[in-house]
Amino acid sequence: QAKQDLAAKDKPAITSDGHQIEIVANIGNLGDSEKAMTLGGEGVGLLRSEFLFLDRQTAPSEEEQFETYQQIVKSQNGQPVIIRTLDVGGDKPLDYMPMPAEENPFLGERGIRIGINRPSILRTQVRAILRAAKENPESTVRIMFPMISTIEELRAAKAVVIEEANKLDVSNYEVGIMVEVPSTAVMADIFAREADFFSIGSNDLTQYTLAIDRGHPKLAAQVDGIHPSVLRLIEMTCKGAHKHGKWVGVCGGIASDTQAVPLLIGLGVDELSVSVPTLPAIKAQVRERSLSDCQSLAQHALTLETAAEVRNTSPVR
Ligand code: PEP
Ligand code: MG
Repeated sequence: QAKQDLAAKDKPAITSDGHQIEIVANIGNLGDSEKAMTLGGEGVGLLRSEFLFLDRQTAPSEEEQFETYQQIVKSQNGQPVIIRTLDVGGDKPLDYMPMPAEENPFLGERGIRIGINRPSILRTQVRAILRAAKENPESTVRIMFPMISTIEELRAAKAVVIEEANKLDVSNYEVGIMVEVPSTAVMADIFAREADFFSIGSNDLTQYTLAIDRGHPKLAAQVDGIHPSVLRLIEMTCKGAHKHGKWVGVCGGIASDTQAVPLLIGLGVDELSVSVPTLPAIKAQVRERSLSDCQSLAQHALTLETAAEVRNTSPVR
């Protein structure tokens, strides 16, 4: 099976009834990007930019960030690249960004909330990303904000992008958001008027929907993104986005979960951003299915009561 998947890695992922799903990669650095190119990746669906910021004494300069982003964009040969702005928080402190201790770091100043409260970090990063876009005019560079929970956050962060894009005279970019907080999934139709695209962070979306810490030593096993409550939020996200002609990706762990993939397709997801090694298998899996079968499976899953029931009724590849 793995050999067959690998042989077909460069073919698009089109269901038997002609519906194409974009299969892109989650990456953390240039090496991952190069590896994804050799495994049939159709772009980058999530660059976790944290790697540039962690384990050091000072924040990376605009120049250093520009150089790294531009190498990654270039390595994708014109394919789209989504760069997520810094996603750290009270639980992942940076030496050069002192943060007051918080009682509930996952409900505190994390993700875009840091970008908004410490605007110079966000502005520097946005400039570096936009310069990487300008340097690679044949590419579409997509800026994505993590942990968006209100429309005001999107507006504040997007304003920074628009200001800097005007200054730098760049236009080959888009602005999207991660959907990883239930409020954002529920309000997707509102966000879709002002965001170019959505990517569902199912790891955090599941944690916040079930109110279970995804790293909790006892409880984390129950954080299963295939839970019907999460599937319902994913369906709402797709409906809200499509109403305004916007597309939806999934970049959390369930995008690389072969039991979840048919459900996600059936719920209306347009793009899957998967871990690099699973690219060929996920592409092959899409080709083995029809959109209409996926839709029936998904509609049935939405009527179930537990994650275990969904797992028991969803075919294992
Ligand atoms: C997610 O929350 O699903 C996600 C992709 O972001 P991270 O795992 O980096 O929090
Ligand atoms: Mg997340």
